[in-house]
Amino acid sequence: MSVLSDLLAVQTTDIAISQAKHRVSHLQEMVDRDVAKRTLAEIDAQIAICDAEIVASNAEITKVDRFSHEHDDKLIKLNRQLKTVIAPREAEALQHEIATVTSERSALDDRELELMGIVESAELRKSELAPLQLSAKSSLVAATMALSSAKQKIDAEIALLTEQRSAQALVVPQSLMSTYEAKRKHRPDGAVCRLTGPTCGSCHLDISQGEINSLRTLPVDEFPECPHCGSFIVF
Ligand SMILES: [Zn+2]
Repeated sequence: MSVLSDLLAVQTTDIAISQAKHRVSHLQEMVDRDVAKRTLAEIDAQIAICDAEIVASNAEITKVDRFSHEHDDKLIKLNRQLKTVIAPREAEALQHEIATVTSERSALDDRELELMGIVESAELRKSELAPLQLSAKSSLVAATMALSSAKQKIDAEIALLTEQRSAQALVVPQSLMSTYEAKRKHRPDGAVCRLTGPTCGSCHLDISQGEINSLRTLPVDEFPECPHCGSFIVF
């Protein structure tokens, strides 16, 4: 085997390594894991909204309760006062105040009922979300495991290819390896290629028969290159 065909073998492995690396960063399992992550995050966010509603409503219920007690105390006091007044105008004023406090008290009751309704419906939504959250969590665990096993598989493949590449590179002279690396920067998959008929396997341009003949008869220490793209040519 010529040294250029040894180099071509290195390139084949290098291409396989790049393809494996590309695959590892474009795994369907990664997409699936991200979807599972987003689904769980959306459910968590909805539950957090319910929790916030429950906390805020309960805090307001406590406040409303305190106001209601204050109103009850005030009503007891006013009714007691009403029994002791004699002047009709004073009694009228007290009755007016009692009516105002009673109507405020009733508005507080209404608000408390409303808040209890909010808490109840938030609790209901939470109980509906709980099984969804549970299944989203297990989906995420499964997707994470699938991703990690898919990655492991390709990582093992890359490790094997890397080992193979080191062995293949051993038989290629170091100076040729350096030139190959430099050429690969511009043509990652075509630093070295074969001809298909008169066509360069790297740039796909035709090389004239005269040029091919002179490439074939180069001295042994010179490597044939495509006149168009500079790719090494394996005959
Ligand atoms: Zn070419």
